[in-house]
Amino acid sequence: MTTASRSDSMRGGGRATGGPDIAFIGLGIMGSPMAVHLANAGHRVTGYNRTAAKAAPLVAAGGRAATSIADAVRGAEVICVMVPDSPDVRAVLTGEKGVFDSAEAGALIIDFSTIRPDVAAEFARQAAESGLRMLDAPVSGGEAGAVGATLSIAVGGADADFERARPIFDAVGKTVVHVGPSGSGQTVKAANQLIVAANIQALAEAIVFLETYGVDTEAALRVLGGGLAGSRVLELKQDTMLARAFQPGFRIDLHHKDLGIVSDAARQAGVVLPVGALVTQLMAAAKANGDGALDHSALLRGVERLSGRAKVN
Ligand code: NAP
Repeated sequence: MTTASRSDSMRGGGRATGGPDIAFIGLGIMGSPMAVHLANAGHRVTGYNRTAAKAAPLVAAGGRAATSIADAVRGAEVICVMVPDSPDVRAVLTGEKGVFDSAEAGALIIDFSTIRPDVAAEFARQAAESGLRMLDAPVSGGEAGAVGATLSIAVGGADADFERARPIFDAVGKTVVHVGPSGSGQTVKAANQLIVAANIQALAEAIVFLETYGVDTEAALRVLGGGLAGSRVLELKQDTMLARAFQPGFRIDLHHKDLGIVSDAARQAGVVLPVGALVTQLMAAAKANGDGALDHSALLRGVERLSGRAKVN
């Protein structure tokens, strides 16, 4: 298992370093800044997004906007994918004129999306049958991590493919770890999503509890942040949670999807995750109450609903 950290030479742009030609499919909240970093690092990047307007930041950074997946992957040595869920990755890879139909022999697919571990392993097998290579490389660190090129990336796949992908990982991530064979990056990401959901839920409950007692919540969170209760979630989410500013970020809909992955994978392995089961239900309740498009920190609204303290809704 190897760990790579971003090399200084890749930081802060600097064009035309002559890396591999890259196709980037899915230019949403995460994919767009990642593709821009790759262009800024000197790679020739061709982006494709279903909704064409989202390619504008990549084009402004010197990339090209493709009109189709086939157009994007033509001539590409590396194909990055960043779409929401397993069926979306399946459509991009196996659809008519999708990646498997259109990629050059030997091209390396890096799937940054968060999907089911078993499905990721299946895609890697199918890629190999089509003469392609594939890594699962789900990311964490949120939109801030994508914008700041500080993502943590758990990579599943073969050693040689990981080494080949290093310049790409270096341009978008800070902590990049090869965790095992195909699918294992997704298993690690599932564990990440369990931990993050439980942390946000605990922080949300603490905020509602403190506010109800009329404590200066900002001061309270400052002191909590300096002790064992401190966390990356508290650091990154406290201000927006106190302000009830729930623009995503990471949507409840996507975290709901990820907790489904956690629940299925745990059940398959015979592992019991009581807190995981609870946060899965609370995330589902948030979605069912119409909060699916809000940031996952809007779990706070669920605590307010349960406590009879919801201001709206
Ligand atoms: P997003 O903003 O919704 O972007 C998803 C992109 O995928 C959009 O550009 C969308 O195109 C495209 N897309 C969706 N379905 C597609 C399909 N069937 N075929 C082709 N393109 C499709 O989502 P995101 O927040 O960037 O998340 C992407 C992945 O990263 C997810 O797996 C998520 O779990 C993971 N992730 C997100 C965060 C975060 O903080 N946001 C953090 C870590 C990991 P349109 O523009 O046409 O809809």
